Amino acid sequence: MSDASDRSQKLPPGMVIGPDGKPCKICTAFRNWKPKTSTASMAAIAAGRLQSDQEPDTRPAYCPPDVEQLGRATWTFLHTTAAYYPERPTPNQRANMLNLLHSLPILYPCSHCASHLGEVMKTNPPDVSGQFALSRWLCERHNEVNERLGKKLFDCSKTDERWKDGPPD
Ligand code: FAD
Repeated sequence: MSDASDRSQKLPPGMVIGPDGKPCKICTAFRNWKPKTSTASMAAIAAGRLQSDQEPDTRPAYCPPDVEQLGRATWTFLHTTAAYYPERPTPNQRANMLNLLHSLPILYPCSHCASHLGEVMKTNPPDVSGQFALSRWLCERHNEVNERLGKKLFDCSKTDERWKDGPPD
């Protein structure tokens, strides 16, 4: 058996290997790094206060982000930026938006997230023609990730409500 397959057999579920062949910190959810049951949680479970599948995320606020925290922050930035993008952007605004989006597959720290996005952008190039089109494009890309992760799909007709206007009174 090769070293790589030997190592992958020992990996805890959810642990992601980076391009360097080592466990990738920024590609892995924090809950998949830590031992499934901490001493504190075991005590809470024993005392009947907690189910074993309901462990709290006890990560201190000063910890570096994991793939989920980074994802939430990035989607917040991207959807909000799209929501405030002009309906009639100047050529300069379009070019800058394209630069921002095309930089993600190169610079996004979670390497497998970045390469998925890069592949998807080859068949679905960003539509920076205006606010509506850009928000829709981004919603669809986010839904592709949601689908891959087994999450509920978002209703793309609600992007303005979610990211700019808020719910109706
Ligand atoms: P998130 O998916 O982060 O969503 C945040 C909020 O956005 C939601 O609460 C909801 O209100 C809203 N929302 C949800 N879907 C949409 C939508 N379609 N349009 C508009 N608003 C929406 N994680 C992985 O494990 N593997 C990956 O390959 C991966 N690829 C990613 C690629 C990119 C470019 C980014 C930015 C993130 C990626 N992530 C990936 C992270 C993942 O998408 C989530 O951010 C993370 O799992 C946290 O999910 P969440 O359920 O808290 O909500």
